Amino acid sequence: MRRSIGLAPALPRRAAGPLARYRPPELEEAAAAFIAHLTSPGDLVLDLFCRSAAFLRPAIRQGRRAIGVGVNPIGLLLAGLEAQPPDRPHTLTAAFTYLGDQPKGERPLRHHLTDLYRARCPTCQADGVAEWFVWDREAGYPYLKAVRCPRCDGVQEGPTDEEDIAAARRFDPKGPPYHYALGRVVPPEHPARERAAELVGLYTPRNLAALMDVTLRLEGLKIGRAARAGLRGVLLEALDRGSSLDPYGEARPRPRTLRPPARFLERNVWFLLERGLDQTTTWLLDRHPLPHAPDLTHLLTESRPAYFLHPSPARRVDRLLPPESVALVLADPPRPDGVFWALCALWSGWLWGDVPLARAMRPFLRRRRFDWEWHRRALQAALAAAATRLRPEGYLVLLFADPTPPLVSSACMAAAGAGYDLVGWGADPDAGCHLVWRWVGRRAAPIDAETLVADLTAAAERRIRSCLQERAEPTSPLLLHTAVYAGLAEEGRLARALATVDHAPADAALLPPLALTAQAVETGLTRVPLRKDEDTGWVWLPTGRGKAAEPLADRVETRTLEVLLSRPEWTTADLLGEIFAPFTGPLTPDLALVRACVESYARFADGVWRVREEDQPRRRAEEMRALEEALKALGRRLGFQVGTGKGWRVRWREGRRDVYLFALSPTAALGPYLLRGRRIPGSAHPCLVFPGGRAELLAHKLRRDPRLARAAAEQGWHFIKFRHLRRLIAEGLDRRLFETMLGLDPIVEQEGVQIPLVLGGEE
Ligand SMILES: [Zn+2]
Repeated sequence: MRRSIGLAPALPRRAAGPLARYRPPELEEAAAAFIAHLTSPGDLVLDLFCRSAAFLRPAIRQGRRAIGVGVNPIGLLLAGLEAQPPDRPHTLTAAFTYLGDQPKGERPLRHHLTDLYRARCPTCQADGVAEWFVWDREAGYPYLKAVRCPRCDGVQEGPTDEEDIAAARRFDPKGPPYHYALGRVVPPEHPARERAAELVGLYTPRNLAALMDVTLRLEGLKIGRAARAGLRGVLLEALDRGSSLDPYGEARPRPRTLRPPARFLERNVWFLLERGLDQTTTWLLDRHPLPHAPDLTHLLTESRPAYFLHPSPARRVDRLLPPESVALVLADPPRPDGVFWALCALWSGWLWGDVPLARAMRPFLRRRRFDWEWHRRALQAALAAAATRLRPEGYLVLLFADPTPPLVSSACMAAAGAGYDLVGWGADPDAGCHLVWRWVGRRAAPIDAETLVADLTAAAERRIRSCLQERAEPTSPLLLHTAVYAGLAEEGRLARALATVDHAPADAALLPPLALTAQAVETGLTRVPLRKDEDTGWVWLPTGRGKAAEPLADRVETRTLEVLLSRPEWTTADLLGEIFAPFTGPLTPDLALVRACVESYARFADGVWRVREEDQPRRRAEEMRALEEALKALGRRLGFQVGTGKGWRVRWREGRRDVYLFALSPTAALGPYLLRGRRIPGSAHPCLVFPGGRAELLAHKLRRDPRLARAAAEQGWHFIKFRHLRRLIAEGLDRRLFETMLGLDPIVEQEGVQIPLVLGGEE
């Protein structure tokens, strides 16, 4: 390995453009980092489940060649649109106008479509055009409408009238548009015919007629390739929003079932197209064309950076590419999203008709359970095919945003089952998950089932303990889950589970490997005595006072300062990469923590991070010394006996009794005081004095780690900023005032965990 493969610390970007509401966030920056570290210029990068240009773009930008394959032509359409946008926004607008000008009978399509939604304004009865109607599914007619009124101001909402209901019923549900729509998806005798008919039935007859009119005319349009792709993107958005799947009056980001809600929206198709045009144009505004290889042969034989998209199921990639041609496989696995896949199968038929591209989607029409075991098998087949195309020193990187435990399990099982070895990983609820693999052709021998289950359970338990011990702090369930599966993969246990179950005789009555492993992990988990934060679900191992190891958060903070001091200036990517470098796998810190550390110690200006002047070690040390002296002087002035010792920087005593104990810290490391510190005598007030620049980080740590907040409250800690203390000293306060101020101090509020108001207010 060229370097340790930690988390490529970059936040995913929300998907944009057509169908964005179905698509997971994209990890372009993370992909860029893997391409930079794992390949060389001229190398071929394979996007195994291509559905955007997020992996193509960084490959080309770094002088690599890229090929995107995928079975879903809609994913490839969107990738192609981003990679080869129409040369000017105007091109798409002009093509859209041209589409609207196409004749429908005697009139332009645009007028015909608009007229389908003519309705009276519910307020003033003037003739207007409805933006949408609301249908009662059971009653089967629209009862509410929103009309753009030429007389009233804006859109008027109100009940429908008889004319509206008659207009909606004018369309024969089984008329020519219905048969055209159905015939374009599957031929009459096809086994999925009935299912396709159900999907076609997800549109009101009026919207179906309108959408088929547009589809038909778009096909006959004589326009360039990029403009046609752009219009298809626009139409896709209308196909989605124009169905009966969106409810009225409730926020639901996207349909989760293929059944219209009890009250559903019927949106005006022409307005949807206009909106789709705006959206698509905006989306493509900052996209620059990437060099496109004219065909696959050119891409494979020439070394100049270019990309090529090829419709193909990922599991057939071995028929497409020569052996050992790929340096890096990037795979963002499709989610088992039955609704989205079925809709894509429907729309692919409508957009492309009876061509291989769309035919390949027909299997997804069938009602099937998209369960995780199915997902694992499909993914494993794809990864096995890709393995044969990888160069011997090549890598597979599975990376995905919005990681969920089942997705992580499925990905680990699939790669292990396809013969890969895990060589690095990272997981973060916000930044996503990545798993880096090399293909070694691992073959595992089956073992007997009982031994297998016991072995998996024990191994899972060990991994859970070691992960939590290493981190020594509350840990997200996602990271813990990934640590367990990564561990089982590294130890060859997943491959063995697959070999045992997949090749077991039919009467062995074993669960599918994924379920079996999940069960073993669950059992392993329950055997570990865990503490859990009920709000966040984060878990940790209980430890006795004084026995706690240094929490990961404190180690990350130390590392952040070391890295910042090692060079005067840092770009964000370099800085994060360097901070994360030693924290791989189970030690992956959450990006939110690392950002809090960086923002505490460094300032960002002119595109680079520089350590804060006051955090230069010499300056900080001088400040600490001065403060120590000042504290001692203050203590004497207030009539205390002042000393030091027992691990405290300054002690204010009265007789033999400690009254105030001060720890002075330039950092926000709380572990040494709150988790591992010495016992505090009952009479004493422990005070942690820290620089104001640490306040936010300190608050972040207290929020993140409930153990710290609880310990701070139980032990009665006061948190005091340097500057604030200096001001108090300068103002010449007396003992009573000092006590009052500490008394007023809410210390650490259990809820929301705030830095004390009085002693640590805004400065
Ligand atoms: Zn009106």
